[in-house]
Amino acid sequence: MLFAHDTEVSLVAAAALVNTTGSDGEKLPDVAALDEFFRAYGWTGRREHTAAELRAVHDLRPRLRRVWELGEAGEDGVVEIVNALLRESNALPQLVKHDEWSYHLHATPSDAPLASRMAVEAAMALVDVVRSGELSRLRICELPGCGNVVVDLSKNRSKRFCDAGCGNRAAVTAYRARKAASRPHP
Ligand SMILES: [Zn+2]
Ligand SMILES: [Zn+2]
Repeated sequence: MLFAHDTEVSLVAAAALVNTTGSDGEKLPDVAALDEFFRAYGWTGRREHTAAELRAVHDLRPRLRRVWELGEAGEDGVVEIVNALLRESNALPQLVKHDEWSYHLHATPSDAPLASRMAVEAAMALVDVVRSGELSRLRICELPGCGNVVVDLSKNRSKRFCDAGCGNRAAVTAYRARKAASRPHP
């Protein structure tokens, strides 16, 4: 394992959140979609189920996306965003244990607004990434026109595509290109 388990889970969830808006359109169009996302990524704690809560979650996405866009080359900029996210939510790291999870870090109380918990959880995970000098693991999907963010947690740093099927699409494109190249000229 590259990072602590909770860090990896948080990075994957943060990337998934960023990727709810992208080339495929809006995947969190309403509160029901947010409910589904909340469940799918194992979130717990207070919910409002309001348009304001949804908007606050939407507003977090471009700030997190910026972290991926800056990446390794933009470390100072990443740190600025991470520190701002922690500061704005008055993050206070505490080890907690709940549901099926063993001890892990929470830096906001469970009754803090959802967007602020999401922001801080992502920021805490990014703290680990920056401290370990692993920002190169945060990349943009290499399939042209995709633009989704990728968290590469593989041993050999081999993850190039996002989880929306871009790896398969790239393989098909490469296969067709090879076939076309090997076809004799008429
Ligand atoms: Zn937790
Ligand atoms: Zn992709």
